[in-house]
Amino acid sequence: MNPFSYSSITEIKKALESKKISLQELFALFKCHAQVANSKVDALLELFPYEEQEYNANNPLSGIPGIIKDNICIKDKVSSCSSKILQNFKAPYDATVISRLKAAGAQLLGRANMDEFAMGSSTETSAFLKTKNPWDTNRVPGGSSGGSAAAVATGMAPWALGTETGGSVRQPAAFCNLVGYKPTYGLISRYGLIAYGSSLDQIGIFARSVEDTALILSTLAGQDSNDSSSLPIEPKNYANHLSGFSIKGLRIGLVENALSAEGMDAEVTQAIYEAKKVYEQLGAHVSSISLPTLDYGAAAYFIISRAEAASNLARFDGIRYGMRSEATNLSDLYQKTRHDGFGPEVRKRIMVGNYVLSAGHAGQFYENAKRAVRLMRHEILETFKNTVDIIMMPTCSMPAFRFNAFDGNKLQMDLQDYFTCPANLIGIPAVSIQAGFTKTQLPIGLQLMAKHLDDQLLLQVAHAYQQVTDWHTKTPTGY
Ligand code: GLN
Repeated sequence: MNPFSYSSITEIKKALESKKISLQELFALFKCHAQVANSKVDALLELFPYEEQEYNANNPLSGIPGIIKDNICIKDKVSSCSSKILQNFKAPYDATVISRLKAAGAQLLGRANMDEFAMGSSTETSAFLKTKNPWDTNRVPGGSSGGSAAAVATGMAPWALGTETGGSVRQPAAFCNLVGYKPTYGLISRYGLIAYGSSLDQIGIFARSVEDTALILSTLAGQDSNDSSSLPIEPKNYANHLSGFSIKGLRIGLVENALSAEGMDAEVTQAIYEAKKVYEQLGAHVSSISLPTLDYGAAAYFIISRAEAASNLARFDGIRYGMRSEATNLSDLYQKTRHDGFGPEVRKRIMVGNYVLSAGHAGQFYENAKRAVRLMRHEILETFKNTVDIIMMPTCSMPAFRFNAFDGNKLQMDLQDYFTCPANLIGIPAVSIQAGFTKTQLPIGLQLMAKHLDDQLLLQVAHAYQQVTDWHTKTPTGY
């Protein structure tokens, strides 16, 4: 039993500061708990040893354990992307987020399972493990960052890093009762993140509270000369600005056409209306808005993400990284390595990606998708300019689903991205927060979105909700 399993970062820091517990003892407690919990949910691919360090009160995360999705490079550790092709690939350098976390004193506890190359919504495409949803182990934890989500939900660590291309932090956060935050495109460096769709990819954060999320963000955010897409942002402490913020008069737009979308679960819809009431009681002005271009999101995302994936994954050729199959000539070597190394979902996406970019088809698919995104960007940015400060809608249309639920209907799996991918397509920040449970005790997520670089406001609005609700304090039993 680890008494700190469900403690906040601030509570853990207090215990370390008052010398109630040493860094090493704390790490041992978390590691022991993680071993037990992991045997039930299969969230982690590896647990790391303790890294010797002294407690340093000036280091914001001194001794605080956290978990890293397996597509973020940690020097001298395997970064497999849950793929056979990178099963034995050891990263030669730290991603910028990792060097920042280490500099802030964080203790990395392990690497988390994921959908292969972050392609999926259930973590079922991992070549290694099927991570289970801690609330119902017959169900998926969401994906692609399902390992990170299941780890934080079972108290293995107070925070974890995930990554987002179309919703891979927010959707598993909603399925596992966590905060899942995707920053503005460019706020957090992606140097050392193994790319999927470069115009969409962002590193995101899982935690149980918005406050913990903000603490981690404060360490990660900021420009990086190694990532030319990172923005020139002054570092700041996002956690300092959370309390004392009043949302009186804030304009929130509830996307009504999202709630009437096909396949919306009635209990999810109900929970969103309850959240609306909470914000009204806090003094916000909540109005109904309509964003018809949302209907283009999942289709445009499907095409753009595959096109970029086909290009990014071309680097895995058996020569430079990871595994190499036996072959008699070069072209065979490429073919065999990629056939043996990539799983079926990844292979399928590479083929679709090459097809939608090919001469004769690019206009019909890729360029059309880009046009749809331009329309969506215009509609959403105009809404922020003229009507609201925050947009509110569900994170997903349904709670966590069962394993293999969409085997006969892959389109349903792709529609998991319906509510989340718009924020990736246009680069705005978005967060999923805990908004209740179904009658069968499955978590429900509420999604908030803000305009570019309004990440601070977004977290303040999310924090205000957690101050008057207790959904985020609920944890699954048996771990
Ligand atoms: N479900 C989406 C996909 O499969 C999102 C994945 C992600 O955000 N990495 O592409």
